[in-house]
Amino acid sequence: MMDFPLTLNVILRRAETIHACREVVTHRSDGSWHRYGYADMARRARQLAVALAKLGVSSGDRVATICWNHYAHLETYFGVPCSGGVLHTINPRLHADDLVHILTEAEDRVLIIDDTLLPVLERIGERVSLEHIIVVTSDGNVPAGMLDYDALIDATDATGYEFPELEESQAAAMCYTSGTTGRPKGVLYSHRAIVVHTLGSALASAIGIQEADAILPVVPMFHVNAWGLPFTCAMMGSKLVLPGRHLDSESLLQAFEQERVTISAGVPTIWIPLLDKLNECEGKYDLSALHSLIVGGSAAPRSLMEELEKRHNIRLVHAWGMTETTPLGTVAMLRPGQETLDEDQQYAVRLRQGHPVPFVEIRARGEAGIVPWDGKTMGELEVRGPWIAGAYYKRPDAADRFTSDGWFRTGDIVTIEPGGSMKIEDRSKDLIKSGGEWISSIDLENAIMSHPAVTEAAVIAIPDAKWTERPLAVVVVREGQSVSAEAISRHLETKVAKWWIPELFEFVEEIPKTATGKFQKTALRKQFAEGR
Ligand code: ADP
Repeated sequence: MMDFPLTLNVILRRAETIHACREVVTHRSDGSWHRYGYADMARRARQLAVALAKLGVSSGDRVATICWNHYAHLETYFGVPCSGGVLHTINPRLHADDLVHILTEAEDRVLIIDDTLLPVLERIGERVSLEHIIVVTSDGNVPAGMLDYDALIDATDATGYEFPELEESQAAAMCYTSGTTGRPKGVLYSHRAIVVHTLGSALASAIGIQEADAILPVVPMFHVNAWGLPFTCAMMGSKLVLPGRHLDSESLLQAFEQERVTISAGVPTIWIPLLDKLNECEGKYDLSALHSLIVGGSAAPRSLMEELEKRHNIRLVHAWGMTETTPLGTVAMLRPGQETLDEDQQYAVRLRQGHPVPFVEIRARGEAGIVPWDGKTMGELEVRGPWIAGAYYKRPDAADRFTSDGWFRTGDIVTIEPGGSMKIEDRSKDLIKSGGEWISSIDLENAIMSHPAVTEAAVIAIPDAKWTERPLAVVVVREGQSVSAEAISRHLETKVAKWWIPELFEFVEEIPKTATGKFQKTALRKQFAEGR
């Protein structure tokens, strides 16, 4: 067989020739809509490559982006890696100290940033040294000393420029974990890892993407490549709808209707308010094209899945992944034969994190070694595969996250059923140890969120003299409703073991979220657990 390197250049060539006119649509920051085809995108990606080379960027150099999901960001997704550079996407919601740390550690030479995100730079001030800052604007207003992205592209003649032949093992992109569990750690994605992930995630038993789809990634392009969807869409030729900074439920619903979106993807904290909005204005939006919302990043509550399906006929597909897994690892779907299960059992199957997608292998390790796939024994999930990180960038101190026989230790505590369906019981540091038994904070949160007057709930451990730890529930009540701790406890009696029911409830306006929209339990611990 030919030794044919698996690089993003192959995906870009396909998008440019086979899917030339398939559309990339962007909701721009000024509210207007921008449209062009993959051939235009590829042409501008080449112009970007030439422009960056003129600015001194050479093979292996890191180019950082701090951008929402839009066409210019897509051009960097191909223009930087296909010319041999490394695209470093940065999460603007990170703390200033973390931003300084990752920009410094990655040695980014050039930064491409949205004008609406320039305040992020003000926060870090003079603490990093960048050679060039390129600003994506909708009005051409660029601060002194910075370059205008569109003007730079328009002024660059890339006639005759061809992207170089690359090795598939070469780095294409990098992303840092959002630091839910400590200082952000960098993961370097090779061309090969992204290409194989692109193939794997398009499969029908994974996300299932076809050319005729119109896909709107709500998941940000600044975190784990928007779950790889920009690459998958370019390979398949699906229409890509990029929401820019318009991430409120109403804007998303309008975009779903206007662009006949078929698949969207986001974290639960995006879909929970979107469901509320849909309930509020039932029938207002024509969502007849929409067949699946992919949810991941944290566990999906049953109430979300059930209501979206029963009331609005929108299927929710639960998936699991991490920055270190590019990110798709597992997807929960009914398997042949399971259609005959009763409703509760079907939801139970679909609310697990699911089966590993082809080429991802899983196992779990308990105190006594690898645990059996019996659906009961808990252990820390370990994964391996062609798109799983083999090390962190410049972090030899984190080598203990990788086993001596080549698996990555995820930090997630799981059970695995016979047949390989995985369920996350908790992140290892979030499990609550009460009287020698474990309480899954995720299961308890979902049980609390199944109360109709609760929109969000996060459970943390607090120290307890008798039981070692007990759960404390932090609850957000649905607007216009009220509920007492006693009422929630009564509701829980039918949902969880009696000893799981928290004695302590705190009612808050909002639960603090991490930069990727997850409940920030470190902040909750500081507020409610420390000093108890
Ligand atoms: P961080 O939050 O540290 O940046 P990631 O954004 O990479 O890390 O998130 C990975 C983690 O998110 C997983 O280890 C897991 O704990 C959690 N996670 C992802 N998807 C799911 C899911 N479907 N259900 C529960 N937890 C999930």
